[in-house]
Amino acid sequence: MQPLQRRRFGKTGLMVTELSLGAMNLRRAARYDQVDRVVHYALDQGVNLIDTARAYNGQLPGGETVESEVVVGRVIAGRKDLREPVVIVTKGHGYTPEKFDADLETSLAKLGVAGRHDLRIGPNPIKLVYFFHGISEERWSEMKSSGVLDKIQAVKEAGLIHYIGFSSHYKDAVEIREAIESDRFDVAELPYNIFNQSLAPLIELAHGHDLGIINMKAFDGNEMAELFRLLSEHIEIGYREMLQFCLANPFIATVDAGAIYPEQFQADIATALAPLPDAPRLEEYRRIGLRLAADLNLSELCRDCRHCQEYFACPQGIDFPTVLLLLSRYRLARIFGKDAAAYSAAYRELKPAAAQCLQCGQCEPLCEYNLKIPALLQAAEREL
Ligand code: SF4
Ligand code: SF4
Repeated sequence: MQPLQRRRFGKTGLMVTELSLGAMNLRRAARYDQVDRVVHYALDQGVNLIDTARAYNGQLPGGETVESEVVVGRVIAGRKDLREPVVIVTKGHGYTPEKFDADLETSLAKLGVAGRHDLRIGPNPIKLVYFFHGISEERWSEMKSSGVLDKIQAVKEAGLIHYIGFSSHYKDAVEIREAIESDRFDVAELPYNIFNQSLAPLIELAHGHDLGIINMKAFDGNEMAELFRLLSEHIEIGYREMLQFCLANPFIATVDAGAIYPEQFQADIATALAPLPDAPRLEEYRRIGLRLAADLNLSELCRDCRHCQEYFACPQGIDFPTVLLLLSRYRLARIFGKDAAAYSAAYRELKPAAAQCLQCGQCEPLCEYNLKIPALLQAAEREL
């Protein structure tokens, strides 16, 4: 089989495969004995960048806890056939030196990283990129004043990590521009896809500053599977076209495709190996995406990413992402003239009910998509 193409990873000088494995969704596997498979498969296919994070943890239906860093570390440690250092991206939420230190120490231990400068997991050399996860206006402001940017630079010089990065999920934000222009970072991970093209200018700016760009959310979040099901009779855009659109962006070094099972990643690899659509077709995707994002009001769509629940539970016990998902599905089904009754019925089954929301607003800053959660819960109560 032909190898995946490689692209320059910005100022790191590394060459990374244009398709990389996003290891967030390992926590969505059906069984614990399945979680290593997709990581092995990605390595078998020559993928040389794996994207994980301290927060990518979750509980499987059987009750076992999956920690993405542990899985990635375990798989790499067990391989004896790797011919080059795998690039590992991991991320933490430490925006002060103290919290950063604690998070980094945990991540290194969970991944099983040993050494200085010449970092290894088991017998295999790796290249480690450490990210500030999901910077927002507040977090960036804390990072600028807390001394954590000098701290991470010192940690890099001491050889505990190789490169510094940041990710941000926000659509168009001053802090992303400032972080890029600070020239403190080697790598950035940003969302970009057919339905969310708002960061295209900042991706180009980051490329101009020689940052290696990882494209996340190429499929616009887990909820898109449901949206594509509803859209399939109306447009010819699916996962393949979503991935092609991102791969066609010359400023992106690698597109991070999240997968739970090898079968899912296999389809992404086949897409990456196939020729890209021509320019008129890509332009058509771009226009369809922009129109639908406006028509469907995707800015109010919960993407089922569950980032909000990584460190937070509603004090009322409300499963607010599920409420938002049901509202999104209900609204989209109605736009497409489909039967939406099942979503109302599922909503009425939820306990505690959304009506018990105190409108305290604690959940709102935790949404990576800036959803107005309390207001949307009120809307759910009205509409569903
Ligand atoms: S606003 Fe409502 S859903 Fe959000 S944390 Fe407060 S009570 Fe829970
Ligand atoms: S509420 Fe926001 S952060 Fe939580 S699952 Fe939905 S989109 Fe993701």
